[in-house]
Amino acid sequence: MLAYQHAYHAGNFADVHKHLTLLAVIRHLLRKKSPVTYVDTHAGRGCYPLDAQETRKLQEYRQGVAPLWETRERLGDSDALLKEWLDALAKAQRETRPEGESRLAVYPGSPWWLTQALRPQDRLSLFELHPGEHEHLGAQALPSNARRIHGDGLEGLRKQLPVATPRLCVLIDPSYERKEEYAEVASTLAEVGRKARHGVVMIWYPLLPAGRHRLLLEEVKRAGLRKLWRSEFILKDPGEAAHGMYGSGMLVMNPPWGLEQALGEAMARIRPILAPQGRHESGWWVGE
Ligand code: SAM
Repeated sequence: MLAYQHAYHAGNFADVHKHLTLLAVIRHLLRKKSPVTYVDTHAGRGCYPLDAQETRKLQEYRQGVAPLWETRERLGDSDALLKEWLDALAKAQRETRPEGESRLAVYPGSPWWLTQALRPQDRLSLFELHPGEHEHLGAQALPSNARRIHGDGLEGLRKQLPVATPRLCVLIDPSYERKEEYAEVASTLAEVGRKARHGVVMIWYPLLPAGRHRLLLEEVKRAGLRKLWRSEFILKDPGEAAHGMYGSGMLVMNPPWGLEQALGEAMARIRPILAPQGRHESGWWVGE
């Protein structure tokens, strides 16, 4: 089953949460010169024009990136991570619309954020299983040390272990169309934990009334993994969300020092705009 297309949801509150976390991790990794292997197990299209037919249908970006873009000057002045994120968004607009950056026309997906970070000594693998989405990804310009692979991302990641570089950074961002994916993600994380003990792995999960993310969280605890930190951006109480997500979660194995503070401060600035009744919670799921 491959019905999910991220274009329907591009730039929503969960993308903002996920890509701010990703950027905070990348910033930290870039402080050292030693090479990093990046793996994006579920890459999507790479770039999302907001006037695409699919994106216009639900317009989720209107409750995500759009209000942040509209208040970008005030937000950028208040927080270093947000400033970097907003400056990068402006760059993505310039790249796709040479005439100017003032209008928000595209929302860049994880392959774009990772490509921005790539230095000559690093490597990047972008996995995408959906043939159509993979073809779209082909439109993104990639440097020679990045490759896109039409295939299963979790299997592809496992096959790359252990990686040849001293450092590993992984984003696992499935669509969770099949409920088995929660357990598959957990067992993949356990394997990364065994074969690349210091790898930084970010897993995005939806907060849905059915609460299936708890299976993922319990499984990784049962697997004996350590240093698992999580951040949850909660828009409303689960009871108020009969359908759809009530929040977005990020589980990070081996979170870099300072992530809690940097992301916490950025989320504290955007939370009143995106979720006046909501909250951001973070902390160790499993400590040292
Ligand atoms: N990571 C992207 C971003 O942040 O811009 C969004 C990814 S979207 C949530 C999930 C993507 O995973 C979809 O494009 C879907 O086609 C793809 N997908 C689904 N199952 C997959 C699998 N087993 N391996 C790789 N990609 C898969």
